[in-house]
Amino acid sequence: MKKAKVLVTREIPEPGPSIIKEYCEAEWWTREEPPPKEWIIEHIKDKDGLLCLLTDRIDKEVMDAAPDLKVISTYSVGYDHINVEEATRRGIYVTNTPGVLTETVADLVWALILAVARRVVEADKLVRSSGWKVGWHPCFMLGYDVYGKTLGIVGLGRIGAAVARRAKGFNMKVIYWSRRRKPDLEKELGLEYRELDDLLREADIVSINVALTKDTYHLIDERRLKLMKKTAILINTARGAVVDEKALYKALKEKWIAGAGLDVFEKEPIPPDHPFLKLDNVVLTPHIGSASHETRSKMAEIAAKNLVLVLKGEKPLYLVNPEVEKIRPLSQVKVIE
Ligand code: NAP
Repeated sequence: MKKAKVLVTREIPEPGPSIIKEYCEAEWWTREEPPPKEWIIEHIKDKDGLLCLLTDRIDKEVMDAAPDLKVISTYSVGYDHINVEEATRRGIYVTNTPGVLTETVADLVWALILAVARRVVEADKLVRSSGWKVGWHPCFMLGYDVYGKTLGIVGLGRIGAAVARRAKGFNMKVIYWSRRRKPDLEKELGLEYRELDDLLREADIVSINVALTKDTYHLIDERRLKLMKKTAILINTARGAVVDEKALYKALKEKWIAGAGLDVFEKEPIPPDHPFLKLDNVVLTPHIGSASHETRSKMAEIAAKNLVLVLKGEKPLYLVNPEVEKIRPLSQVKVIE
């Protein structure tokens, strides 16, 4: 069998490596931290395919270095780190791993909602630091109820809808804003549509679930944070840059809102002197939305299959840029025979 040449920018869980090795000669970056861009540029020169992570910026410069590149398979659902327009122009297929991580990310959204509302992390720190002096007091460590409140979903995609589904068990009213209204989901889940500013005024808990694009960059800015209730909680598991972080810091510090739960940041990892670290009313997790054993394995399988399928000249499981097929049909990218 003729194998394809591929570059893989990190070690991924099984069955990813087995699938890749069966059909490809692969070169791997094996360290934990992301490879420097120069390493990708140096090693992608003769490759037919690339399997990358959301921490690798795949721009025009990288594509210029890869004249044989036919597919970029990202081990993520988000693809804001890839210049998709440029890839399409060059006839490069871009694939991702949606769906398999939806429920796992929605679980983390709920972990953050409950942790912020009921001050779980703050309370744990207090107990560990011997700060628990009085056994029980009527006004000790009060948080906010979640049950029966109003949840606002910003971006009713796959993850947004999964977050909304879970709210049923908490007897919540769920409102949403999305580019397009979704009458079927409104009916199925009893959701109500709101304009974004109205949603921010009304919701007790706001969950950000939009993709990062040039339209959603700093979608939640100072003006919009000021619309929120003083008792409201903001959760962001989408991408850091959807929220203006400097404005959010002011909102949390000056108590325009009650708290936030953040899994994503404008720059990751956040530096050790990041101002969020000094605040008690924010719960921070290190971009672990999809980080369960089960989901990361499924993502590896899909990312590897996407890579191999395109190089076999077959339709990948998930294609980000379907218009590419008109520029370079799958029969022309076939390498594995
Ligand atoms: P999805 O089903 O594709 O949903 C994307 C959402 O973004 C939809 O609501 C869509 O609006 C909205 N959107 C896309 N482009 C937009 C634009 N230009 N303007 C306004 N809204 C726009 O994706 P998903 O699977 O739910 O994932 C959502 C995001 O979560 C991903 O893009 C990724 O950044 C993030 N994520 C984070 C983690 C983590 O580890 N924290 C894990 C997975 C995903 P419509 O509904 O109107 O189309």
